[in-house]
Amino acid sequence: MSGDWVLFAPMRAEARALRRGLPPGAPLRRTGRGLSRAGRAAAAYRATAALAVAGIGGGLTDRLQPGDVVVATEVRRDAPDAASLPCPGAPLLAAALRRRGHTVHLGPVVSTDRLVDGAERERLAATGALAVDTESAALLAGAGRRPVACVRAVADVPPGPLYRPATLARVATALRTLRSVGPALVDWAAATTVRGVLLAAPRSFCAGVERAIGVVEQALHRHGPPVYVRKQIVHNVHVIADLQRRGAVFVDELDEIPDGAVTVFSAHGVAPAVRDTAARRGLPLIDATCPLVAKVHSEARRFVGRGNTVLLIGHAGHEETEGTLGEAPGRITLVESAQDAERIEVADPERVSYLVQTTLAVDEVSGVLDVLRRRFPALTGPSSDDICYATTNRQVALREVAARADVVLVLGSANSSNSRRLAEVSERDGTPAYLVDDVEAVDPRWLAGARTVGVTAGASAPPWLVERAVEALRGLGARTVREHTTSTEDVHFTLPKEVRT
Ligand code: SF4
Repeated sequence: MSGDWVLFAPMRAEARALRRGLPPGAPLRRTGRGLSRAGRAAAAYRATAALAVAGIGGGLTDRLQPGDVVVATEVRRDAPDAASLPCPGAPLLAAALRRRGHTVHLGPVVSTDRLVDGAERERLAATGALAVDTESAALLAGAGRRPVACVRAVADVPPGPLYRPATLARVATALRTLRSVGPALVDWAAATTVRGVLLAAPRSFCAGVERAIGVVEQALHRHGPPVYVRKQIVHNVHVIADLQRRGAVFVDELDEIPDGAVTVFSAHGVAPAVRDTAARRGLPLIDATCPLVAKVHSEARRFVGRGNTVLLIGHAGHEETEGTLGEAPGRITLVESAQDAERIEVADPERVSYLVQTTLAVDEVSGVLDVLRRRFPALTGPSSDDICYATTNRQVALREVAARADVVLVLGSANSSNSRRLAEVSERDGTPAYLVDDVEAVDPRWLAGARTVGVTAGASAPPWLVERAVEALRGLGARTVREHTTSTEDVHFTLPKEVRT
């Protein structure tokens, strides 16, 4: 479905190119060239819910190539004291265009009252603008809080002059690009039905993740780069990229770490064999294992010490389960599902204990536990829940948000267990949920027709990812952003002594 919107195309050639990618009946309006004509044309659309403009534009930096697409993050008029119109939905539109194979740049677009060249372009480029046109600011000037989009296919680029034969070929390239811009704008327009955002609280970083990141930051501060980290310190691409930029080196195994290099174990914990190898090599070691994961390891040792078989409810291949299984190879068995629980055989049914991966879904575990308790009445478990407070709290909050939302966005990486469980919890309760690394990965089609969007973030996802997603949703028309809080958290873990200040 599509909301109430209009797509302005200033020139006949631009309108013709756009029309080729639009469905029949799409609300395309040709406005004519220049700020005055654009202003007059836009006046007829004061009541239209969403406004978009697309056409060709001049590039202001040599980072752009003819045929690239600039999606405006703001539109300005080239005039003293002219207000700039923000386009917060730009990342979503950019993502839709990238999915269609376009090379997309996000940045300001400036509108001038005439074609500009040479020194004039350099002056505009110095303001940070990426592209220049002669209509957008007038077409969108009266938008107010309505959703707006501005897309310019780049024709000419600096440093060459505008008026030269090659410009004609570049205009043709830009017009070809415009032909496939229309479908992305249709997707964007369909998502401009969003009116509210419901934020689950708690969400985002937990105490264990904050501690683990703090360990690497302090290690870098004290020892300088490089600091080697076995496995990803936490499962989030943005956290990893940020720490890499600052000098952390992430490796899969210890043999990739040079002798004597400062070494950090990730929040997910390691098997004793890994710890022994590091000790044998004399690596200066800092352990960022979350204390709640360390607790599961110590329970494993306690149960095995009693002579029990341990059934570990968790997912195969996850670093946390591998670390816990490594506490007593052959004495701890992984149980991934209720079907596994039905099949599992143990040497002595009177001596069986269970443990749980800290980041599982609460309801997923209870089904497995029901089977184990039925089959092994003497089953013993940990003194307190293994599923950690952060996992539980985020799931409880999201469940209530999902019940009130049309669709849910979970910010987090695909290899983050707790983030994946959040999306599954919402889906199980009947609300479609999408796990995305950031707002740029959101497909506007997921939001088509939605009025309320629920938003949460996994325990390893930085809070700024949520802020950017909310901003983009405001750009689609969200008027209210409310937080739904089911619990408050005040858990903090102290840093290991090696990096404590
Ligand atoms: Fe620790 Fe729980 Fe955070 Fe995992 S999700 S790091 S177990 S607090």
